[in-house]
Amino acid sequence: MSEHFDQLLRHSPLGILCDFDGTLIPFAATPEEAVPTDPLRELVGRVSSLPNVTFVIVSGRTRDFLERNFPGISLVAEHGAFRRGQGAWEPLRDELIELAALHGRVEELIARYPNARLEQKSTGLVLHYRQLSPSEREGFVVEASSLLDSFAEKIPTFQRSESTLAFEVRPSYIRKSTAVPWVRERAGHGARLLAIGDDLTDEHMFGALEVGDEAVVVRHGDRRRTKARFEFSSPEQVVTFLREIYELRIGERARVSTLPAPVERPRNIRESVSQSLLVVSNRLPSMRSAEEGKPARVGGLVSALGPALSTRDGVWLGWNGKTIDDTEESVAVLENDFSPGLLGMDLKERWYRDYYNGFCNRVLWPLFHCFPGRVRFARKEWDAYEEVHRVFADVAVKAVDGRGTVWVHDYHLLLLAREMRARGHSGPIGHFLHIPFPPPDLFEMLPWHKEILDALLSFDLLGFHTPGFMRNFLACVGTLHPARVSDDGIEYQDRRTRTGVFPIGIFPGDYQKGETKDFQEEIDGLLRILGPARLVLGVDRLDYTKGIPERLLAFGRLLELYPEFRTKVSLVQISVPSRADVPHYAEQRQQVEEIVGRINGQYGEGHWVPVQYSYRGYQQAHLARLYRAAAVGYVTPLRDGMNLVAKEYVAAQPAEGPGVLLLSRFAGAAVELRDALLTNPYDIDGMAEDLRRALTMPLDERKDRQRKLLARVESSTAATWGEAFLSALEACR
Ligand code: UDP
Repeated sequence: MSEHFDQLLRHSPLGILCDFDGTLIPFAATPEEAVPTDPLRELVGRVSSLPNVTFVIVSGRTRDFLERNFPGISLVAEHGAFRRGQGAWEPLRDELIELAALHGRVEELIARYPNARLEQKSTGLVLHYRQLSPSEREGFVVEASSLLDSFAEKIPTFQRSESTLAFEVRPSYIRKSTAVPWVRERAGHGARLLAIGDDLTDEHMFGALEVGDEAVVVRHGDRRRTKARFEFSSPEQVVTFLREIYELRIGERARVSTLPAPVERPRNIRESVSQSLLVVSNRLPSMRSAEEGKPARVGGLVSALGPALSTRDGVWLGWNGKTIDDTEESVAVLENDFSPGLLGMDLKERWYRDYYNGFCNRVLWPLFHCFPGRVRFARKEWDAYEEVHRVFADVAVKAVDGRGTVWVHDYHLLLLAREMRARGHSGPIGHFLHIPFPPPDLFEMLPWHKEILDALLSFDLLGFHTPGFMRNFLACVGTLHPARVSDDGIEYQDRRTRTGVFPIGIFPGDYQKGETKDFQEEIDGLLRILGPARLVLGVDRLDYTKGIPERLLAFGRLLELYPEFRTKVSLVQISVPSRADVPHYAEQRQQVEEIVGRINGQYGEGHWVPVQYSYRGYQQAHLARLYRAAAVGYVTPLRDGMNLVAKEYVAAQPAEGPGVLLLSRFAGAAVELRDALLTNPYDIDGMAEDLRRALTMPLDERKDRQRKLLARVESSTAATWGEAFLSALEACR
């Protein structure tokens, strides 16, 4: 390797394209604090003056910043939008970009997150959120993405990109890759280039290099895919490297000793082939924590499937949560350090928009939850839905033995068995639907209902949460499809598909642990604010299916009709940010906040706030403590596949003084949890009455209901669910 670099670094002419932030200097809290030191400026000056070397800083920073800090150096500013050799700045395209409207809205957002920062550039803007606390970040990320995405959708030449803890909007044709031919031309005939950078914008630069050039990535502890073949682990190494290049070229040194190491390639699918079991879900579980040093929040699905995957040496395939440019290829990469093996796919921006936010979340989600008014059809979204299935199927058939078992999850992947069969998979393929299945008159609204039913009948086993959802499915087949429905399953074209009811559960023990000191402080603070008022608790993703406005209105009605509850009860509503880039979700948020404001304005008194509203997510231990403290678990979805919060609330109740679960009849959980106090969230007055009944329920009745509810929650858990589905699926072999 040292030979390789020796030749490159001695080559004349040599062009060096070097990023600035994260590459020449470490990140600082704000961009203003990240300025080059005098020795760095001096080194850059010396390297730039080397004969036969064209040294260019290729940065996302503004012209003004770069010019001030690196006078006389060749510069590329704002990711390629402007470049300057020795003369004046040249724009990449003569285009005046109007960002004023977006700028105003971004300023409003920043005003609500005072630790976030807006950096205005002449062709775009950057929102930095490095200084936000982890809890603030969640909300900010959702809001900022929504704002920037809707702008980029309106003005298609603009796109949103992400760098380290910052979002940026700029025209999509402006890329650091445009700097590469420019530097090659400036460096002179026969030049070889060396590009050094650390983030995704630098990958564009790496991608434009040619044979004989080399790219070096500076990795800050991350392991993301890179086009570079070599890596450094800190800007200090880059600076030493440049110093040694300088010394080598002026003859003061025989060899460069600080060389980048070859990039350790993530293993790819060919090295991973499984085995006997493949799990496929739209989203791969996140095993890494967003915060350093803290364990990742491992979802229930992972815990439920983990043991089965481990004993069968299985692999889990899904979207890794990242999006890539439409021009890039999505390949499956095996995440290195985890068991079970996780095979992660990137989604192209177009797929994220048309498949995920489009067909999945704007068509299937509302229709299957019986909200036809929120459905919006677009043929290109259906096309993207089919396309993503083909891409997933290509990977899936390579990831599992042809006779292995495949368990597919949820509405994002309804067509997967069809595509896998077309690619020759003969082993059992099962599907579990985590959301409701609609009745025929709603399902028929889907222009592609026949195709979806056909595709579902390529599965061997279809699992549902409740008998009602399964009946709806069978009724759809019976009325909309030529297949024959019998007691033994559905027969169609030499295939038999079985159906079954498998209500998902939780791990009750997770909510029954003694008090831990770890999370006490924050929840104590919240409970202190409530004072002696009894706690009514709502916990959901902020989703229109969850009935949050109805729940708030019924709480307001309780205070109106029964003034004796004023100052005696408080509603804590936790709403976890969700899909904020789908317009209905943003509207829902606004509506919820308006109602909270109205109730608090109307009934609040000096030391009593009727509704404490929190737009963020909490960890499991936080929730367990809140569940225990709550006199009423207020779970009122308009429609829900299951609703795990209901089961978690039950698991957490103290035996001696349990609270009351007030549960919507339209949650899947209501089928099993019949001993909860059931309510109808469409009837606000009725729900206010039910809430009053919950708050005044005698202890004996509470204990009796709790005993029966807990027995259900403990007998049908996440573990029994996973085992039951898999053994039914394996029996289809
Ligand atoms: N949850 C969480 N932190 C929060 C709020 C919710 O971890 O601040 C978890 C909650 O414990 C439950 C899940 O998110 O396990 C929500 O599942 P549910 O079935 O109730 O609704 P879904 O979001 O799947 O529609």
